[in-house]
Amino acid sequence: MLRLTQIKLPLDYNDASLKAAIIDRLGIAPDELLGVTIFRRGYDARKRSNIFFIFTLDVELKDQAAVLKRLQASGKSTDIGITPDTSYKFVTHAPANLDSRPIIIGTGPCGLLAGLVLAQMGFKPIILERGKAVRERTKDTWGLWRNNKLNPESNVQFGEGGAGTFSDGKLYSQIKDPHFHGRKVLEEFVKSGAPEEILYVSKPHIGTFRLVKMVEAMRAEITGLGGEIRFNSRVDRINIENGQVRGVELANGERIAAEHVVLAIGHSARDTFQMLHEQGVYIEPKPFSIGFRIEHPQTLIDRARFGTFAGNEMLGAADYKLVHHCANGRSAYSFCMCPGGQVVAAASEEGRVVTNGMSQYSRSERNANAALVVNVNPEDFPATTKPIRWPASTFNAIGIHGLPGRRQYLQSAGPARRRFPRRPAVNPAWRSRSVLPTRRVHDRPEQLRTALCCRCPARSDPRLRQADQGLRHGRCHPDRSRNPYLVPHPHHAQR
Ligand SMILES: Cc1cc2nc3c(=O)[nH]c(=O)nc-3n(C[C@H](O)[C@H](O)[C@H](O)COP(=O)(O)OP(=O)(O)OC[C@H]3O[C@@H](n4cnc5c(N)ncnc54)[C@H](O)[C@@H]3O)c2cc1C
Repeated sequence: MLRLTQIKLPLDYNDASLKAAIIDRLGIAPDELLGVTIFRRGYDARKRSNIFFIFTLDVELKDQAAVLKRLQASGKSTDIGITPDTSYKFVTHAPANLDSRPIIIGTGPCGLLAGLVLAQMGFKPIILERGKAVRERTKDTWGLWRNNKLNPESNVQFGEGGAGTFSDGKLYSQIKDPHFHGRKVLEEFVKSGAPEEILYVSKPHIGTFRLVKMVEAMRAEITGLGGEIRFNSRVDRINIENGQVRGVELANGERIAAEHVVLAIGHSARDTFQMLHEQGVYIEPKPFSIGFRIEHPQTLIDRARFGTFAGNEMLGAADYKLVHHCANGRSAYSFCMCPGGQVVAAASEEGRVVTNGMSQYSRSERNANAALVVNVNPEDFPATTKPIRWPASTFNAIGIHGLPGRRQYLQSAGPARRRFPRRPAVNPAWRSRSVLPTRRVHDRPEQLRTALCCRCPARSDPRLRQADQGLRHGRCHPDRSRNPYLVPHPHHAQR
């Protein structure tokens, strides 16, 4: 097969126009084209008046060698080459007399995929998960969102599928992938029920409801291959002898022997990190980012990015990415932007608050949200101060595991202010400013403003140009939305 890149077509392209573009590019007769597979489809929205698709295509021809030779001879072979082999190669296969099964701790995206690949190689892994199976876990998660009841072992972070289950299901990263490992992941997801388009759209996503079914399908494949998934099985100790891993010990005292243990415990199991640290497992602090989630009406973002193309079904809900590199070496940037999504309470520990964003496949909710964060380094935290105090002090301030927040109005009056979310996800009756690490992060409003407004793709929009003049804190309003993902405000909950 030949791979063609940089094929540009309008948003209303169809199969016929796609084929015509290929025939034109290759200079072949129509009957020489045997088949077409879309490998990647992205859009170019740099000019809002002229948004178009850019394709990478794999084409099957009657005589591929002759076509390639002709194009190379005429100097027209740029953006055309042999299609690379993207199939996944197993590094090994289990011996027939397998005497020790590997253990994987955690069933998040990392643990599930590790378990699946090990099962496919014949290693019959044992996967241990502290939380519950995905359906039961979903009930516990809704228990937090609806009734403010947190189950510390079964929640948005813990349980089958890990923190990835209740998410936007964004499936792209900026990491280079020369061996196409990401392709293997996407193919497994499609096998488990994800829409086929995730294999070729440039920013694939799945959405929470579909993820639940997919996670179950992946579990079925693992167990069908001889693997085992045990829920309600928190690992409380790694058994280490003479510097060698010998197995694990569960919270109920059960010991399981193993020569290989994969830690796929995610970002939130602080008790497990502590346990590993106490057992002498090497752990080092890493830089991270801190900030808040910001919401806008999705229509505002659509118009800002797509102009008159806003609402076009082929484009879907628009996303954005903002970054501002500050003179002091820090960066303010947007992260995990969820078009047409929800801000959700995502706590997994008693007495702490965690806020995150998620969406369904349709991305049809009223508001867009994104994290707006500033990077912080281990040096920012002397041994005596712990960043962990913010989730805790936030909880102390609001008294629930819910969503702290505030309304922040654009300074300009008029249309921009009117179009700010009337129904934010958060309950803005509580002012979050009192717990943000003001000295380190919040004292840089000009940088946040620059990141938000000056770098906004809609900066030519007069309404947003006005906004660039400044942000200011607005008056707080009670939240009257009936958003099902919200944890009720304590005053409302008491009623
Ligand atoms: C609401 C939300 C939205 C998100 N949206 C996106 C998104 O759109 N795109 C994206 O790329 N990322 C998103 N993320 C982040 C993403 O979910 C995580 O990066 C990803 O889940 C990490 O995968 P993981 O397998 O390493 O860990 P996790 O998914 O955190 O899984 C770890 C698992 O290990 C289990 N575990 C922990 N300790 C133990 C123990 N001692 N014993 C047994 N089991 C244990 C936990 O219960 C958990 O199930 C989102 C996260 C959240 C919370």
